[in-house]
Amino acid sequence: MHYLSTRGDATPRKFCDILLEGLAPDGGLYLPASYPQISDARLQELRTAYHQQGYAELAFQILSLYIDDIPAADLRALCAKTYTAEVFGTGEIVPLRHLEDGLWLEALSNGPTLAFKDMAMQLLGNLFEYELARRGEELNILGATSGDTGSAAEYAMRGKKGIRVFMTSPHGRMSPFQQAQMFSLQDENIHNIAIEGVFDDCQDIVKAVSNDLAFKRKYKIGTVNSINWARLLAQVVYYFAGYIQATESNAQKVSFTVPSGNFGNVCAGHVARMMGLPIAQLVVATNENDVLDEFFRTGVYRVRGSADTHETSSPSMDISKASNFERFIFDLLGRDGARTQALFGTALQTTGRFDLSQDPCFADVAAKYGFASGKSTHADRLATIRSTWQQHGVTIDTHTADGVKVAREHRGDGSVPMIVLETALPIKFAATIEEALGHAPERPPKFAGIEDLPKRVQVMPADAEQVKAYIARHCA
Ligand SMILES: *Cc1c(COP(=O)(O)O)cnc(C)c1O
Repeated sequence: MHYLSTRGDATPRKFCDILLEGLAPDGGLYLPASYPQISDARLQELRTAYHQQGYAELAFQILSLYIDDIPAADLRALCAKTYTAEVFGTGEIVPLRHLEDGLWLEALSNGPTLAFKDMAMQLLGNLFEYELARRGEELNILGATSGDTGSAAEYAMRGKKGIRVFMTSPHGRMSPFQQAQMFSLQDENIHNIAIEGVFDDCQDIVKAVSNDLAFKRKYKIGTVNSINWARLLAQVVYYFAGYIQATESNAQKVSFTVPSGNFGNVCAGHVARMMGLPIAQLVVATNENDVLDEFFRTGVYRVRGSADTHETSSPSMDISKASNFERFIFDLLGRDGARTQALFGTALQTTGRFDLSQDPCFADVAAKYGFASGKSTHADRLATIRSTWQQHGVTIDTHTADGVKVAREHRGDGSVPMIVLETALPIKFAATIEEALGHAPERPPKFAGIEDLPKRVQVMPADAEQVKAYIARHCA
């Protein structure tokens, strides 16, 4: 399997060549040269593998279609080490729960940080450690977080050989639970840097440090952002696991509704569908930051400025542009790298928008690729959290609530199961749950009292030079 860039660079690269990379050199995103096709017989084998050998084996079988530069025995061991009941809470790893007529919830948030990002990040930690050891290299991961991504990265990389994490976050602006999750880690290779500023200041610092190429090279600075292909690939597996749990025969179809921000999660669903998994619809659910819903309704993709990016009660979906969206558009345009470059490299950079409403390909979005979309607001979230609690005794988090709200509008006559991906547990967003229900969400026992644990964090002004000096001091 080779990988190419969405902007036309077709230099053949293997999985491990792009594992530690962000963007392709031409500014595009990596995709496999083609999507391996799953025949009916093969899907039956995957079904048996999941039921008899479990999620880790399913993951191995799917990943091995895309990774041929790690020996099979090693890849299987990496999957087995990652997807354990100990780390993810249950033997099914992603258990499916029936919610109501035609609607199911697939639990993706029982990993160490209680958000779906663990599903991919935990594997990434093991893949990074393996590949760095094989090359005899080290990596210093520098990131900016307002919550979920940073903690998922830290819990994936803690204690890993050859890896240090330097995670910046806006001082005092994350929820007490999120701060406790990150700052209570005592591992020596994890460095929390609380910046006196807002999230944008943290991102600016990461950019400034990464743009200092000499520093970047000397200190082997890397990232783990959502455009990483390995993260996306790891997510493909739970679409298969959801399908297998919801059906008994491969003649059946299912649909998925996906609470979306950067389009990473639902893009993995698109990949699964391109491989031939019988998915009817992929429904993209957004919050008030509706860049994606707007595109799927109108054909116009219009990125927002920071003044038009709303701070909502489903904060992990508060995005102004969807960093993985280019992958889908590349497929939609018949994998035309020059046109993708014209849209993402030129039109978006100059006008902040592009318009495919008059292009024949726009009809394919729904008809050929199965996409639909919807949007949810703060009032919708509260109402959905309340109704789901009252009707089913189930507490859902705010992001999942955006999904359930939109899924209820798209479930049709109920003949095709609609699976909503549960992307976080409610305890992470306790204030909004209290607003909706009048009581706090349940806290998993292992998180009892984490706010009282000793904290390991360095507070710093919003100054890239001081962050660089800190990194240099801790890389000796
Ligand atoms: C990251 C995140 C999302 C959005 O996922 P994308 O891959 O960015 O579309 C949704 N919900 C939660 C809880 C998240 O952490």
